[in-house]
Amino acid sequence: MKQAFDNPLKDEPLCEHNHEGKSGCRPAKPGATAGGCAFDGAQIALLPIADVAHLIHGPIGCAGSSWDNRGSFSSTPGLFRLGMTTDLSEPDIIMGRGESKVVAAVGYIQEHYHPAAVFVYNTCVPAMEGDDLNAAARLAQERYQVPVIVVDAAGFYGSKNLGNRIAGEVMVDKVVGTREPAPAPEIEGRKVHDICLIGEFNIAGEFWPIQKLLDELGIRVLASLSGDARFAEIQTMHRSELNMVVCSRSLMNVARKLEERYQTPWFEGSFYGVRATSESLRYIAQHLNDGELQVRCELLIQREEARVEKALQQYRERLTGKRVLLYTGGVKSWSVVSALQDLGMEVVATGTRKSTEADKAKIRELMGEDAMMLEDPNPRHLLDICYHYHADMMVAGGRNRYTALKARLPFLDINQERENAYAGYNGMLELARQICQSLESPIWPLVRNRASWQTASGRIAHG
Ligand code: SF4
Repeated sequence: MKQAFDNPLKDEPLCEHNHEGKSGCRPAKPGATAGGCAFDGAQIALLPIADVAHLIHGPIGCAGSSWDNRGSFSSTPGLFRLGMTTDLSEPDIIMGRGESKVVAAVGYIQEHYHPAAVFVYNTCVPAMEGDDLNAAARLAQERYQVPVIVVDAAGFYGSKNLGNRIAGEVMVDKVVGTREPAPAPEIEGRKVHDICLIGEFNIAGEFWPIQKLLDELGIRVLASLSGDARFAEIQTMHRSELNMVVCSRSLMNVARKLEERYQTPWFEGSFYGVRATSESLRYIAQHLNDGELQVRCELLIQREEARVEKALQQYRERLTGKRVLLYTGGVKSWSVVSALQDLGMEVVATGTRKSTEADKAKIRELMGEDAMMLEDPNPRHLLDICYHYHADMMVAGGRNRYTALKARLPFLDINQERENAYAGYNGMLELARQICQSLESPIWPLVRNRASWQTASGRIAHG
């Protein structure tokens, strides 16, 4: 099957990861796929669209390794939690049954689940075999009267970032603009503004409290790509007055294309930390060009900051002066620094492996010109930095959990697999609570003390 994306996708002008010397969107070396393949990236970007059936065309292993590995929440039970695959086997490949399996699978899905649409993800084996997924999708759509969208992001096309970008491109090309939104309601004679979010995944339901604040301001979120989204919402993204790219440079191409096609302005912001949340709300209000909205927004920010400040006091007393090593990626490399500093903590170093020059400039703004930026994810290196700078804890992604715990160092998971919501004003309180819980756990003095049968050298005494 011909790849459905153009090569320019590997050269997104707004993404620095695919520039010379960076590996971000280049094909992964065989055997070195740690960090995810393009298919994995495409699924991560689209899986939270809750009323869509996500059908993976390929051997069952592709579905197994990527299914439900992010903590996105949905307000309905959500079809997206069901893993669906054509389970391509060796006889299917020999007999050339791939395309007919896709058509049959769409029929089964439509009969049993009645989804808003079916997304068919291509993977390595059918891509190499040359299955014509577009033809199969056309046939299935006609036969079963359900939109069938092909996401051609086979693993070997490149990295997870490229997969994110392919997924975004498919949405812009095939879904956005195919439906008109319901007219915006007027609240107390005021115009309600429409915005969209790009790269917001509603991890642990963290966007819902922010949604309430936006509702209060009279701002309607037409669609979020893709946290707690519905297919019909994605279809209306062309009517957005302003797009916010939330912590996700890999979906920059969506913001850029929507600007080119529909003249929708966009900005990049974050909801991690009090300062970042207030700045993002302020920016939204300013860009919607509504003086009354800006006044309401300032009042809301004042109220929320005062409320959080009061509630944070007890945590700040416990956390001030504590040292933390942060290892995460992209926009979080600075937005979480800002959140930790808001708690009175000192960030000794931050990971910048997936950060851009703009992210690094923000880090310097927050941590000073000599800020330590870590590119090397090697566990030994991270621990050496912790020991050298007397870090009290590590805040990082789940894969660093055991590095920290084996070194008897308190740890907090900050990446997408986490179970706690850290965005917005309420998220800040939760972050402070979780850090205190981790730092003050009674386990640390117990595991750090020598057992009574150990000698001063740490060896077990015999006889
Ligand atoms: S799409 Fe390819 S690289 Fe990705 S999981 Fe499947 S076989 Fe592996």
